[in-house]
Amino acid sequence: MIQVQNLTKSFGSSAVLKGIDMRLEQGSVLVVIGPSGSGKSTLLRCLNVLEVSTSGSVAIGNASIDFQPGVKPKLADVLSLRRQTGMVFQAYHLFPHLTALQNVMEGQITALRRTKAQARARARELLEKVGLADKADAYPHQLSGGQQQRIGIARAMSIDPKLLLFDEPTSALDPELVQEVLKVIRELAKEGRTMMIVTHEMKFAREVADRIIMIDEGVIVEEGPPEQIFGSPRQERTKQFLSILL
Ligand code: ADP
Ligand code: MG
Repeated sequence: MIQVQNLTKSFGSSAVLKGIDMRLEQGSVLVVIGPSGSGKSTLLRCLNVLEVSTSGSVAIGNASIDFQPGVKPKLADVLSLRRQTGMVFQAYHLFPHLTALQNVMEGQITALRRTKAQARARARELLEKVGLADKADAYPHQLSGGQQQRIGIARAMSIDPKLLLFDEPTSALDPELVQEVLKVIRELAKEGRTMMIVTHEMKFAREVADRIIMIDEGVIVEEGPPEQIFGSPRQERTKQFLSILL
């Protein structure tokens, strides 16, 4: 359903992704772990084409792009791939001048051409789902980090994406606000949403992931079910990384 083949990304002469191959079945949760600077964010950004990959291919549902070095992908293909994904950022990135409700309406109107009434109705459902129906008219600065991130999740879901991408969704939060965000993500996993989550919350990863990939220096060094990665990692690099966290 989601297939990435031999994906590479360089910034100038610096190779950041060096041939990523992965598959993700519909309804499954993939957690990405790995040290800082290993290319985790770049991988997510390449999947929704916030960054243009240097070479390799990305296919999500019916949308796909074969990237060629030096060749700009067609805008229509970029938009069609981007429409398959919803992204949740570490620093929320809500529109500061829009209310919670408007933040969740915006993409529906611009990307899906829904009417305002349709977008508003769907946005209200999603705010309800993340437990923030009563904050519809609040602006981001009036909300806690945990609330802002839950709005971020509602916004990511608002275009009905096939794949939800989470880039360290709780890393910017005070410790007491982490759980309210993880709870929402856990519920999405239970509903069978297809998700790819970069996180350092290892307890959460173990519980929510169907599979885990460990990335180091732009390469997948190990891939497997959580029991393997956490219980008996095969690669020295994975052992080292996990031992630093524990
Ligand atoms: P991670 O999310 O695993 O911490 P990133 O994907 O953010 O890692 O970054 C991987 C590497 O790519 C880092 O060395 C980073 O400096 C580099 N990098 C990321 N984005 C850019 C960019 N826009 N221009 C140049 N280098 C970048
Ligand atoms: Mg990152």
